[in-house]
Amino acid sequence: MSVFFNPHGVPEMACDNCGSRWYDRMTNCCYECGQPVTEEMLAEYNQALAEFNRARAAKSTG
Ligand SMILES: [Zn+2]
Repeated sequence: MSVFFNPHGVPEMACDNCGSRWYDRMTNCCYECGQPVTEEMLAEYNQALAEFNRARAAKSTG
């Protein structure tokens, strides 16, 4: 899995193996092909998401 940003600037995860954007939060694996999502990857995604939310909050309070 790797983090990318959609056209709205929202961070999303996509599978390196099959390109799926679905992953199973219960098992931390790709929903389509079962490739495991590493803790490192999850941390990177969560950080990107936190930064996005912070930027959005800053914008809305403007
Ligand atoms: Zn996959």
